[in-house]
Amino acid sequence: MSSYVAPLQDMQFVIKDLVGLADITAMPDCAEVTDGLVDAVLDEAGKFATGVLDPLNRVGDKDGAKLTDSKVTSSPGFKEAYRQFVEGGWNGLSGQTEFGGQGLPHVVAMPVQEMWNSSNMAFCLCPMLTSGVLEALKLKGSDAQKEKYLHKLTSGEWTGTMNLTEPQAGSDLSAVRTRAVPEGDHFRIHGTKIYITWGEHDMAENIIHLVLARTPTAPEGVKGISLFIVPKFMVNDDGSLGERNDVKCVSIEHKMGINASPTCVLAYGDGKGAVGYLVGEENRGLEYMFIMMNHARLGVGLEGVALAERAYQHAREYAKTRVQGRAIGQKSGDRVTIIHHPDVKRMLLTMKSQVEAMRAVAYTASAALDKANHHPDDKERRKNQALVDFLIPIVKGWCTEQSVEIASVGVQIHGGMGFIEETGAAQYLRDSRITTIYEGTTGIQAADLVGRKVGFEKGATAFSIIDEMRQLDAKLAASKDADVSAARESLKRAVDGLAAATQWIVDTFPKDPNAVAAVSVPFLKLWGTVAGGWLMARAALVANGKLAGGGDPEFYRAKIVTARFYAEHILPQSAGLVSVVTGGASSVLSLTEAQF
Ligand SMILES: Cc1cc2nc3c(=O)[nH]c(=O)nc-3n(C[C@H](O)[C@H](O)[C@H](O)COP(=O)(O)OP(=O)(O)OC[C@H]3O[C@@H](n4cnc5c(N)ncnc54)[C@H](O)[C@@H]3O)c2cc1C
Repeated sequence: MSSYVAPLQDMQFVIKDLVGLADITAMPDCAEVTDGLVDAVLDEAGKFATGVLDPLNRVGDKDGAKLTDSKVTSSPGFKEAYRQFVEGGWNGLSGQTEFGGQGLPHVVAMPVQEMWNSSNMAFCLCPMLTSGVLEALKLKGSDAQKEKYLHKLTSGEWTGTMNLTEPQAGSDLSAVRTRAVPEGDHFRIHGTKIYITWGEHDMAENIIHLVLARTPTAPEGVKGISLFIVPKFMVNDDGSLGERNDVKCVSIEHKMGINASPTCVLAYGDGKGAVGYLVGEENRGLEYMFIMMNHARLGVGLEGVALAERAYQHAREYAKTRVQGRAIGQKSGDRVTIIHHPDVKRMLLTMKSQVEAMRAVAYTASAALDKANHHPDDKERRKNQALVDFLIPIVKGWCTEQSVEIASVGVQIHGGMGFIEETGAAQYLRDSRITTIYEGTTGIQAADLVGRKVGFEKGATAFSIIDEMRQLDAKLAASKDADVSAARESLKRAVDGLAAATQWIVDTFPKDPNAVAAVSVPFLKLWGTVAGGWLMARAALVANGKLAGGGDPEFYRAKIVTARFYAEHILPQSAGLVSVVTGGASSVLSLTEAQF
């Protein structure tokens, strides 16, 4: 079993040299964030990941959360780790300072969360959902609600959940049936929510549920859903905890992965009804929930990066120790470790290059989010908001789909041992499998991308990103490094293909939305693949400059070769995706239901 090693050098490279931390810390809101502070935070977060969370990952997989009499007991060691997490101030890393948070930019929180997710994703789901609740209440809660809930949610003394799903309402939230009946200054909530992550547990003294429900006069469909705060324990005006609310966990799911994260069925209102407080205006709940979901979608995309990185590290260690066969052409002499076989090297580079590309795309989105939130210039804020909105379905959909494939390559590198649970490689494959499903399946992300993000705005943001990709060509052409310029042709072809496929979506969307929907997932993967190639090529150029300035040759040379591998082995796959997008819709739509 390998131990997690925080990939600090690549993380620092991406946030500082590729996506421009300095531009973010130059903004007045982030002026207190220095390079030294960032280094110290990443260093400490890495120690927490390696020393506290990583040793519990297998424990949680084998000995998951348990339910007895409506109470969930967390996996061994988790409660203590969560206490350390809260005491270390980690929960409030990017939280608002007025509620006790540290106000660090997202681009700094991203590598921190990546490390924690790599070392123990099941644990991290708890603070991730809390931060989604924080985000929603920060933007839409009343001043009194903020004062009552945000301090303890920011510190992590209380945790948060997101309650959307019901048996008949999964991807289609317009089918939500949970009822909210007005009663004085509050509502009484009745209904059942399923699959609620960390919906009940023993790690914190209170849980603040955000719940979607319908009031009696609500119109049908998505325009009739409101958002409510439902605390597990009522909160008195002085902040102390009152009586238990009428919400209880009736079962937890048996899952293929993330076993330490309790996935709960919550019954609201078995008795008088759970007391709930309206957030914002009635019937605008889904709109508000999307604020939280956008945040969470970036977080789930990051889970994809994190699990892929962990699977890579595990496979790398195995490949360096497993002895099997001789080098090609050698009939005698010592047998070699499998990392010496070209096909194993290819598999490792497939993992490494894609993890680095995914990290670059995900961190670029988070840097755009910081600029959208804090840039002093309104035009820059709007431009970056459009960029982050565009990238969110790609980060969520592409990074998670890739993580499943990368974890599967990790199993392959282990040979038969990969299929044996004790080795640990299978856990990353099992854990990663949920990431393409929750927070909106890949199909739902792709529908968002082709619809709201490309079709409705006639490709405006998409083509502005493509223009930026094209501007790299001259710089690549000018490079004297053979590895750097090798990426140029491949990127040029991929960007041309991406532009053609995007134009096809823009042209087809108004007249044949079914055709667009039929190829939306390949289109999303195409965008991820090419955006990754673009950022890897930029990374190669930056690394080249660093080398010229005397930077660490081991790291920067590997970065350049990894980018070249991506350009030669991964980017050409985009040509296949372009032909699927522009020519593959009609076969999808041709079979009748009976023909399946
Ligand atoms: C471990 C786990 C944790 C979860 N945590 C939470 C949580 O904390 N809170 C919460 O509220 N929910 C949670 N969920 C629920 C999760 O968000 C849903 O499972 C997910 O949104 C999909 O809904 P569904 O399962 O009903 O699938 P369905 O909606 O039935 O989808 C089935 C298939 O049909 C496709 N599909 C459906 N509609 C469309 C469409 N319009 N266009 C194209 N394809 C479509 C989907 O892509 C999918 O492939 C969790 C689920 C799991 C398994």
